[in-house]
Formats: sequence, structure tokens, C-alpha cells
Amino acid sequence: MTTISNALQAVRERIARAAAQCGRQPASIALLAVSKTFGPDAIRVAYAAGQRAFGESYAQEALPKIAALSGLDIEWHFIGPLQSNKTKPIAQHFAWVHGVERAKIAQRLSEQRPPGLPPLNICLQVNVSGEASKSGVAPAQVAALARTVAALPRIKLRGLMAIPAPAEDVARQRAAFRAVRELFEQLNAQGFTLDTLSMGMSSDLEAAIQEGATIVRVGSAIFGERRNPL
Ligand SMILES: *Cc1c(COP(=O)(O)O)cnc(C)c1O
Repeated sequence: MTTISNALQAVRERIARAAAQCGRQPASIALLAVSKTFGPDAIRVAYAAGQRAFGESYAQEALPKIAALSGLDIEWHFIGPLQSNKTKPIAQHFAWVHGVERAKIAQRLSEQRPPGLPPLNICLQVNVSGEASKSGVAPAQVAALARTVAALPRIKLRGLMAIPAPAEDVARQRAAFRAVRELFEQLNAQGFTLDTLSMGMSSDLEAAIQEGATIVRVGSAIFGERRNPL
């Protein structure tokens, strides 16, 4: 169990080193610990080591964990694929949703967000890798989607999320993340007030930080290899 806290510390050091290399403040990059496939015990260990934001990809798996850990001060982020008939528990139990790629999904999340909770934070998933990635809105369609989502009453549009096609070399990793950042800057130049770039995982978080990531989503580097990769 100490391995999780050691691994968490090692990831924090990677973030700090990458930030220092490009002159950013480490505090401007939030670490989202991706706990999918790992149980409440693993989450408790990371929590005891100071981690507060956790990411889950499947509602069916996440909801029992959220219930089991309801006494803890955890901010839950939904990072998985969204189906429009399964949005309700997500609107009820999460603080953030990272993978929105359709207006209809955002509309449902807004309608289903309970009145007693703050607006749901949303990132639009963009597909900067073309055919190499099935999910995400095409860059040319992002502004129109952002306009629709930003107008929803129970949603706070925070920014963009991306999962670029895996690339071995850092230059290619950075090129994909740079494309996301440029889209983000174009949207803000058009009047949006986005503050979040959710990009970078265990294998490419340094490249993402160099291109402006404000949230890195890290699973296996903290919790170990997933036995049933999702
Ligand atoms: C699983 C997952 C991650 C974490 O991936 P690792 O390579 O284990 O760090 C990040 N983002 C999304 C959307 C994921 O599904």
C-alpha cells in the first residue's frame, strides 16, 4: 500500500519537474488520479497521501465506490464515454465531466443536475488525431458545440479535453497537445472564458504540461497496471 503513496509522490515530482522546465508554477497543474478498476482501498491510500480529485470511466463501476467513500472529501471526475440514456447518475454524483462531445449529452446533464449542487463542470473532448481516434468533436465543430454548451443553465463550460493517439516520440506528443491548446486559445479569443486543458496521462504528461495542460489524468503511474485494461 505504501507503493501507491510512493508512486503518487513520484508523479507529483514529474509534474513539478516538467513545470519547472517550461517556467510554469507546479500549482497551476492539477493531478487527477484515475482510479478505474481499483477499489476503495486503493483510493483511501491515495487520499491519505493528500490526493482529492479522482477520475472514473464507467458509471456502473464508479457509483458503488462513490457511495463507499462518501465520508471523504473527494472531487469525482467522470472521464469515460457517455451514453445519452445513462447521464442521470453522472449528473448527480460527479463534479466534473471531461468527455462531452455532443450537445444532446450536455443538455441532458444540465437538465439532470440536481438544483442543490453547483453547476456541473464540463470539458469538451476534441479529436485532434483525425481517424486515429474515434471519440471527440472535430476541431472545426468545437466552437459551435461550445456556444451551445456554454448557454446551458446547470453547466459550467471549463475547457477542452483530449486523448491524442499514442505516440512514442515527444515531438509528436507535443504537436497533438499543441493543437488542443491552439483551439483553446482561439475559443478564448472569440469570447469564451475557458480555464481548463485536460490532457496528458501516465506516458505523456510531460509533453502535455509543456503545451499548457492544467489537469493531467494519471492512472497506472499511481495505482499500477490495470488488470483488466479499460
Ligand atoms: C484510463 C484513462 C486515463 C489514465 O490512463 P493511464 O495511462 O493509466 O495514466 C486518462 N484519461 C482517460 C480518459 C482514461 O480513460
